[in-house]
Amino acid sequence: MIKKIALEEHFLSPGFEDYWQTTAGEITPDVFRQAVARLGEFGDLRIAQMDRDSIERAVLSIAGPGVQIERDTAIAVRRARESNDFLAREIAKRPGRYSGFAHLPMQDAKAAAGELERAVRELGFVGAMINGHTNGQYLDHPSLYPFWERAEALRAVIYLHPADPPAAMPVLEGTYGLRRATWEWGVETGSHALRLVFGGHFDRFPHATLALGHLGEMMPYLLWRFDSRASFYGVKLARRPSDYIRDNIAMTISGMYAAEPLNCAIDAVGHEHIMFATDYPFEPPDEASTFIDHVPLAENVRADICFNNAARLLGLPA
Ligand code: ZN
Repeated sequence: MIKKIALEEHFLSPGFEDYWQTTAGEITPDVFRQAVARLGEFGDLRIAQMDRDSIERAVLSIAGPGVQIERDTAIAVRRARESNDFLAREIAKRPGRYSGFAHLPMQDAKAAAGELERAVRELGFVGAMINGHTNGQYLDHPSLYPFWERAEALRAVIYLHPADPPAAMPVLEGTYGLRRATWEWGVETGSHALRLVFGGHFDRFPHATLALGHLGEMMPYLLWRFDSRASFYGVKLARRPSDYIRDNIAMTISGMYAAEPLNCAIDAVGHEHIMFATDYPFEPPDEASTFIDHVPLAENVRADICFNNAARLLGLPA
């Protein structure tokens, strides 16, 4: 098996179960309890799974929207900080195996910028994971420019993770099994990222780096169409949409363990922008690793996707 760094590996801080439950969907109380137990465990179980999958390092991030659905900004600021301190203590027990993405109170751009800087400089985190919109506000909102200035200055990767849309999508009303992870989150998260691309965010912050799971939330498949329609509608950008998607957006294979979309993403954005992730503990154990270990790829491409790209992007030991 090839050695790996995994980027979308979840945990829960004590007391964050209620935030997560809002997005867990229609699961039984038993499944909920099991997931919470796995999410709160940083010892033998998690490490044994990593060893089985040849994962040298897991970059840990909070599960669910966390404080991003908190209506009280002061509480969001305090609890994000507490969660980051909690994660830092767990990482300190196994610094050779774990790294962290910060959890941020996006209700307050200055506080989020300050917490990102503290997490990167003092706690040694490699960036942040942001779970979609924050109470309906997306990441292109002008009030968040101070946050992006700081993220850019710190060269911090901002991983945009799916979340429920602010309101359920009308087209999915009355369907079963299409909400959330099947389809809704991909549309919501891909659209969120495209707001940044089409809104000129990466002209404003050319050194900002976004990361997306699920092989780029369908964007690699549509690059030609984005460029074609941006030109047709006269979208004002310094470059083509596909240029920003290639240069400012990295992606992981989380929850997408099939050769067709992987090959599409490699052809569309280049394998050097693609990284490994398992979405622990929400996908069946071993599925991600079995897939990436065996899917037909040149061995240097496999090594880059599994390890080297993440080490380079996140500044982790090679
Ligand atoms: Zn995830």
